[in-house]
Amino acid sequence: MARFHTTDPTTGELVEAFEGLTDEQIEPLLDRAHTGYLAWRRTDVAERAAVLHRIADLYDERAEQLAQDVTREMGKPITAARGEMKTCAGIFRYYAEQGPEMIAREQIEPATGGTAYVRRDPIGVLLMIMPWNFPHYQIARVAAPNLLLGNTMILKHAGNCARSALNVEQLFQDAGVPADAFVNAFVGHEHVGTMIADERIAGVTLTGSDRAGRIVGEQAGREVKKAVLELGGSDPFVVAPDADLEVTAKDAVIGRCVNSGQTCTSSKRFIVVDELYDAFLEKFVAGMSSVPFGDPQDEATVVGPLSSEQARMDVHDLVEDAVSHGAKVLTGGQPQDGPGFFYPPTVLVDVPETARAYREEIFGPVAVVHRVADLDAAIELANDSPYGLSSSVYTTSAEVAEDVAARLEVGMVWINSTSKSSAELPFGGVKRSGVGRELGRLGIEEFANHKLVRSP
Ligand code: NDP
Repeated sequence: MARFHTTDPTTGELVEAFEGLTDEQIEPLLDRAHTGYLAWRRTDVAERAAVLHRIADLYDERAEQLAQDVTREMGKPITAARGEMKTCAGIFRYYAEQGPEMIAREQIEPATGGTAYVRRDPIGVLLMIMPWNFPHYQIARVAAPNLLLGNTMILKHAGNCARSALNVEQLFQDAGVPADAFVNAFVGHEHVGTMIADERIAGVTLTGSDRAGRIVGEQAGREVKKAVLELGGSDPFVVAPDADLEVTAKDAVIGRCVNSGQTCTSSKRFIVVDELYDAFLEKFVAGMSSVPFGDPQDEATVVGPLSSEQARMDVHDLVEDAVSHGAKVLTGGQPQDGPGFFYPPTVLVDVPETARAYREEIFGPVAVVHRVADLDAAIELANDSPYGLSSSVYTTSAEVAEDVAARLEVGMVWINSTSKSSAELPFGGVKRSGVGRELGRLGIEEFANHKLVRSP
């Protein structure tokens, strides 16, 4: 039986528990979802766009309650949780307004005469497996384009985000999404394989660890089903010799600490050329030591607790392993005593290749700072990673920015900025960071049937 329960990361206390589905309940659920798809795909696109507009409005209206639930479930600082709801409203509005034009038929001039066009049709019910770090935004990235396109979804949310899963389902229904077109399912890992193998599931998308991505990607591949995988990252933050140091050091702190360091596109590896290293490090350590850290209900808090005791142990294991390999801790480095799962902003230097923190994603507010001889060495180190999600480059030269952007093995490059997300910008990575793109125009193409219609 699946385990869905909420433990408040601020107190460590169990708040709510939810019953998981049994094996027998999977079959009727799939049937329901498939029936829902057959009806939803026949609705007019203007009607679907209107529903998306109403979802956006409800995100604005309900932002406070939704944000409070997120903070209680996974510890996100309340100001950031409110921001997440605003972002969701923006994503639904974007696809409500731009989506119909994106899926309009595309005329082609056939070489041998006659007419041809490509339709963008839906493919069916998608299984969406979602993580806890942005309990609403991660869903919006999939649900907004796909509901507009005519696909429907079964949601398998993270085990610690059950209340948010129910909140999303209720909000969608209140906005006019038929109950069978978006179905929340409290299912376990064992059910995921069964569902992917079922012919009523047309595709699968997972956001989470590369460990989970490999398993689900393999299951989808075996069934020849489309999979979009948005996985982890160990994003480089490259500081060129001509960077503006004040801005760079300030942004570095924000980049590492956003969402308490639990973001796939957080800056995680700070790669600084020799001539700026000492000055950068001094400012960066001062910034990391003074980040507002503590109660996520305090509106000023930037770093709250980590999402679970396990998450905190995973982060601390990586820090301890690095230290045992010769790394130095310049600030933080110890779990905070007392209730809750707090881990302070931490800076590590001299992390050797043999340490796990050199290669693995650290999902918490722990920065690894590297000194390199020059920009070529910075790029080489940045690319020496199994991941390739996003990146930041700090330089005052447009030529340097363009050159580094071209040479980084990543899906996204932000110049003189930390990574952010916006409805119109495609989001995704290469290497072990995943397959496919979400958001923007590309995001609506992933689960579309690009159907050719040709006549003489
Ligand atoms: P997971 O990848 O384990 O969880 C993400 C989602 O996948 C959850 O819904 C989870 O379900 C589900 N899942 C996990 N394993 C399987 C499986 N074998 N079959 C089917 N579904 C599965 O992430 P965690 O929450 O455990 O976090 C661990 C690490 O993952 C982090 O340290 C970080 O590196 C990475 N991560 C990356 C995210 C990103 O945005 N790229 C987001 C979250 C995590 P359940 O909750 O029931 O286990």
